[in-house]
Amino acid sequence: ASECMNSVADAMSELASWQAELRAQFPIVAAHPEIAYLDSAATAQKPQPVLTAVMDYLTSENANAARGTYPWATRTTARVEQARDRVRAFLGDPDPDRSGVHFVSGATEGLRAVARDWLAPQLRDGDEIVVPYADHNANIVPWHEAAALAHARGVRVTLRAMPYDAAHDYDAARLADLVTPRTRMIAATHVHHVYGNDMHVSRLRAAAGPGVPICLDAAQSAGHLPLSVRELDVDFLVFSGHKAMALPGTGVVWAGNRRGPEYTQAGWHGTPNTSGIVSLVAALDWLDAAGVDRIAAWTRDLGARLTDGLARLDAYQVLGCQGSLAADSGVQRRQGIVTFRHRAIGAHDLGFILAADGLLVRADGHCQGDQGEKTSSVRVSLHAYNTPQEIDRLLRRLAELNTG
Ligand code: PLP
Repeated sequence: ASECMNSVADAMSELASWQAELRAQFPIVAAHPEIAYLDSAATAQKPQPVLTAVMDYLTSENANAARGTYPWATRTTARVEQARDRVRAFLGDPDPDRSGVHFVSGATEGLRAVARDWLAPQLRDGDEIVVPYADHNANIVPWHEAAALAHARGVRVTLRAMPYDAAHDYDAARLADLVTPRTRMIAATHVHHVYGNDMHVSRLRAAAGPGVPICLDAAQSAGHLPLSVRELDVDFLVFSGHKAMALPGTGVVWAGNRRGPEYTQAGWHGTPNTSGIVSLVAALDWLDAAGVDRIAAWTRDLGARLTDGLARLDAYQVLGCQGSLAADSGVQRRQGIVTFRHRAIGAHDLGFILAADGLLVRADGHCQGDQGEKTSSVRVSLHAYNTPQEIDRLLRRLAELNTG
């Protein structure tokens, strides 16, 4: 038994020294020891190699892409094309020759692009779209836009609500009953941005059958969970580069081999965000070198440390999937996102109180769609640079407020 405990302790200290090395690569973290940045689901901080890659590009051969004939321009074009391959590799794309990768400004724009450019023109009278109404608005509004565009040309489309179970996961059995031969899209999310749970997306394909397109919002899983489009078995996958440590204004639409060839036609629209794309490649390199699986384990542990601490403070209520963490297959389902409310202090006030102590959390309704819990809450979202000491510091402050 002591051998076993020693090996657990070794693994933990190895993880801690791995993390200390990663944390040291974030200049903003080093510059602000007084701050605990706990809002990575909104946007992630950037490691030095990402900043360096952008600076190197802008100071060495910045030019427009897909235009000029001189070397800076042709090399920039090549960088953008190589970036598409880098994204495919990051997503474990099994068929990279037939998929499409399209650069957009973020997940919102990516979901809108799939809905508006790909889906809307093909909608016919009586078609149906399954919409996840308890997810982020960015994965709700675009599907309404697609239906509105169809409506404008006299085509009636029905929006069906994605069914959820009591643990805020998708209810695959009820989804199977909902899918009809007229279902033209199932919109889903990989990791929920409020509850933090992994939505078990691979079950959707079995429920939907092989022919129905599934579009996955991976905004909260890219960089947090290893992604495999083959295992997820989706047709479109969208994520925000800036939440995955690239610059703001970067995002990706991946269209799998079933849809890619047609969607790739839309591969070049005007001037792409070249420096953003350079930052995205550096960010994906950084994440892969750091080990997304290790980041997942690290942030899940930090999240569990926080939920355990909150469970001892009776003024707080954690939203979502606590208590059902190991619901199936022994796999812990909450990723590094923990959202909670104080019994007496409003979420905005709590946000201000915490910020005054350098604890930067999100405090509002988190852009959650209709069926979500409507009032505001405080969200703590974690990434590779966060530490147990930051969680303990937050818990100490929350304990001081554990009244009412
Ligand atoms: N989808 C989810 C699940 C999110 O959490 C967010 C971010 O807030 C978005 C979509 C929108 O991302 P962006 O603001 O980068 O477009």
